[in-house]
Amino acid sequence: MTQRKASTLCDFHIHTRNTDDAQDTLEAMAEAAAARGILEIAVTDHFVPGLQGYCVTPHQIERHFTDAERIMRRHGVSVRVGIEADYLPGAVRELEAMIRRFDFDMILGAAHFVDWCGLADEGSARTYFSRHEPRAAYRMYFEHLEESIRSGLFHVMAHLDLVKKFGAAMAGNPGFEEYAECAESVARALAETGTAFELNCRGFDHACAEQYPSAPFLAVIKQAGVETVTIGSDAHRADAVGDHLERGAAALAAAGFTRIARFRQGKPCFSDLRADQSY
Ligand SMILES: [Zn+2]
Ligand SMILES: [Zn+2]
Repeated sequence: MTQRKASTLCDFHIHTRNTDDAQDTLEAMAEAAAARGILEIAVTDHFVPGLQGYCVTPHQIERHFTDAERIMRRHGVSVRVGIEADYLPGAVRELEAMIRRFDFDMILGAAHFVDWCGLADEGSARTYFSRHEPRAAYRMYFEHLEESIRSGLFHVMAHLDLVKKFGAAMAGNPGFEEYAECAESVARALAETGTAFELNCRGFDHACAEQYPSAPFLAVIKQAGVETVTIGSDAHRADAVGDHLERGAAALAAAGFTRIARFRQGKPCFSDLRADQSY
């Protein structure tokens, strides 16, 4: 990994090798953050009950809390402990039990699975888009996302328009106007439940070549009065920690957002987006 100048302040979406899609330890991720001048990160391993290889265990969460203290002393990086959890109607009890068990800094909600298909996985997304015509495919995804938000279980919702990851190529890249009503409904759900959302920078490396959520989606969220937003790289490897945070922050600023939130013990604290010269 090449060392870069300090470029941003926090990265609130990071995965470790506790799940099959990531490969590095929390310490390696924190070291990479420090090398990029990022002094606060949140670890958000997947919690998908019933999906082998994608469900962080209580023991692994305990390890994160222990490691966080050591990492702070050794590398000067503040590690917040969260999870990225799916709202699965059949596994709500497991999620509630996990949330009760730990003093998580942030419960990051995600809607990866619709109609038993994983929309972040290419093969599974192909199945999904072959079963449903584009408008229905997008609508079903957003309905599930809204139901997840309205469960009230999450502090922050991740990558709000994840459906475009493969939908861009597999569903004919529908324009925002085709699902604007869904986006407005999602934004209302965020506002009414007091749920924050995430500016996820991983999309810059995906076929959509833009952040999640898109610029017009950000405008709708702003219009709905939702102001609390976190930012994250969604890194699954140490050399991706902090990727594209500046571009993500610029997209937020362009949409009129002025602050970035970090979560500690479920509560947001804010830093000024405009005053932070590193953005
Ligand atoms: Zn995700
Ligand atoms: Zn993630």
